[in-house]
Formats: sequence, structure tokens, C-alpha cells
Amino acid sequence: MTKDWNTRTKLVHSGARRSQYGELSEAMFLTQGFVYDTAEQAQGRFDKLGEDEFIYARYGNPTVAMFEDRIAEIEGTEAAFATASGMAAVNAALTCLLKAGDHVVSAKALFGSCLYVLEDILARFGVEITLVDGTNMDEWKAAVRPDTKVVFLESVSNPTLEVIDLKSVCDLAHENGATVIVDNVFATPVFSRAVELGVDVVVYSTTKHIDGQGRCLGGVVCGTKEFIRGPFETYTKHTGGAMSPFTAWVMLKGMETLDLRVRAQAESALAMAKTLEGHDKLERVVYPFLASHPQHDLAREMMEEGGTVVTLIVKGGKEGAFRFLNALTIPTISNNLGDAKSIVTHPATTTHYRLPDEQKVELGIEPGLVRFSLGLEDVRDLIADVENALKAV
Ligand SMILES: *Cc1c(COP(=O)(O)O)cnc(C)c1O
Repeated sequence: MTKDWNTRTKLVHSGARRSQYGELSEAMFLTQGFVYDTAEQAQGRFDKLGEDEFIYARYGNPTVAMFEDRIAEIEGTEAAFATASGMAAVNAALTCLLKAGDHVVSAKALFGSCLYVLEDILARFGVEITLVDGTNMDEWKAAVRPDTKVVFLESVSNPTLEVIDLKSVCDLAHENGATVIVDNVFATPVFSRAVELGVDVVVYSTTKHIDGQGRCLGGVVCGTKEFIRGPFETYTKHTGGAMSPFTAWVMLKGMETLDLRVRAQAESALAMAKTLEGHDKLERVVYPFLASHPQHDLAREMMEEGGTVVTLIVKGGKEGAFRFLNALTIPTISNNLGDAKSIVTHPATTTHYRLPDEQKVELGIEPGLVRFSLGLEDVRDLIADVENALKAV
């Protein structure tokens, strides 16, 4: 019945379970284990878990289950499984499906650790990886083959904000029998239409917008019951990537305000992008909902808003970018995003420092590139601060 609710209502109520005490706020069941009235009941639980039955927190926990049910409803999937971090989610989603000899096609503009899982770990176990320019459908068509098992991509890339045509990639993958896994952080669960466009498995680092207040690491994987309760759950419950009940409780409370927060942040992002476009200290302003963005029409089709991050290419390369960062007074220099506090990052020397220079060039991670994650501050203050800091460039 809750399927008929709109997003904000679901974010506040979906998945909630009350104990016998009738608590208003979701309870934190900070327990790793569960007890049984009789030996027969214990045997019965291990034999076949019923709904709302738990045996061990690595397998499931009531607070974690509330969070999983809530996000599955928002994403529009049958089920979800919460993990200890975004990377635990990405790693498990890929690894649980792959074996030696399998072929994976992935967009190459990826979060550094995702690239490591593909190119270092999975390749070491005999999985063949083909990387493509995600915005070029011809490259996808040339790479996906009948033996391709998994197609992996970030719907909006970090930090270059390239938008990938999810529908076309999903159609191509499905014609070849492949499963599409999308790392969907930049689209956020609120703006995402990934499932509607054909994506099979949607992964979030809940560390970002879902917590949204910089407290806990977490991840979640959304998909069909067959995938989540099948290969994903089996892999995760035995390898130990489960989310802690405390983290799940923080994420549940974060979900209540998720829609309000990301809409406010996206509104600020668009306002900042529009104001700064054409500024004489900037080479470029990149934001999916600016008409100048190369995949602008696609972005508007695929997402309800342009997201909460604006990418600025500051003139003067690294020196220009550093002068700008050091002159800002409101945003903090950090490497998170999606937070209530505005955060600025210089990817070339932090999040992406490990990449060789030629790979940075290929991925568009220029020395002057600054990633600006819009927080919940008044955007007029943020714009004034940015305009002032650009004078130092
Ligand atoms: C942050 C992030 C991750 C990793 O998530 P953690 O919670 O830090 O493990 C993966 N993919 C993308 C796109 C991210 O932004």
C-alpha cells in the first residue's frame, strides 16, 4: 500500500517497524544476536527465516531492515541490502556475480576505488575488463559481447559530471544478457530514475547524501529479490560486509530529510553554476543542468534535478585552484560530498592523486578542476564567498 505514497511520505514512514513499546522514532536495535524460546524455534529460524525474524546481525538486524525497506521503496526495487561502506557495496555487487573467465564492460570515469576493484582485484582473479568512454555509445557497442556478464558505470561521473545514457546502455547490455550495475551516488535516490531506465542493480555510498551530515560510512545495494536474497546476500553474509545497526539508525534518520536537503542543495548548485558561468577567473563551469553541458538534454531526461555538485575549472591550473580553495571562508576543504556543509575538493591532488598523469588527462581531471559540493548554507553567502575567493586567483 505504501507504494502509492510520494517520495517525501515514504522517506519518513516506509519500512518502519514498532516494538511492543510503540516508540515514535525508529528504535536502534544495537544487538548482534537474537535469542530463541526453545531449541525447536532456533532450529526453525536457521532452517527458514520468516519475515521479521533475525538470527545474527551479519545476516540482518531489525534497524538495518527498516533502512533497507525504506530505500528499496524510494529506489523502486523489490529489495535492498545495506553494507558497511559504499565500497563494500560496490565490491560485493560485482564479486558476487563474477568468476574467472567472465567479461565486464565499464565506463572508465569511475571513483578511484571502483577502478581498483575492477582493474586490480577482479583482473587478478581472471575477470576480463574492458573500459570505455561512457558518453560514447559506439564504444559501448564495440565492447559489449554475448559473453559480457556485467556492465558497470557511474550514472554521473565524479568529478567531471559526465552523464551516461542509461537507457541505451541498459538496452544494449540486456540484448547480450548482461546485468547492469550502476554506482548512483551523484544522481541521489531522490533524483534517480535508474530503475525505470532499465538498471538492474543500483548502488549507493550512503556516506554521502543519505547520511548527509558527515557522521557514518555506509553503503546499500538495491535490486530484485532474486539478486539481493540470492547471490548478493549469500556473498555478503559470509564475507562480513554488513552495515552496523547504529549506522542504519543514522541513515534512517537521514532519509527523513533527504528530499528536502538534496532539493535545496540542487537549487543552490544550479544558482551557483548560472551565476559563475562566464566568470573571467574560470575556464569552465560544469553542471548537468546548464545548457552548455555536453549531455544537457540527456541529463534533463534522466534526472529530476542536476545534482548537488558543481565542477569549476579555475584558471591558472593547480596554483589557481589552490589560491581559490585557500581564500574560501565558508566551504571546508575535504573529500566528502553531499553534506550539509559545503565542501570543496581538488581531485587531482587528493581523491584521484593515485592516477598516473596521462590517465588524469584522459579522464578530464585537470589541475585547475575544483569539485564544489553544495551544502545547506544560504546560496547568496556561498556565491559571495566564491566571487571573493576568485579575486585571489
Ligand atoms: C564515495 C563514493 C564511493 C565509495 O563510498 P564509501 O562509502 O566511501 O566507501 C563509491 N562511488 C562513488 C561514486 C562515491 O562517491
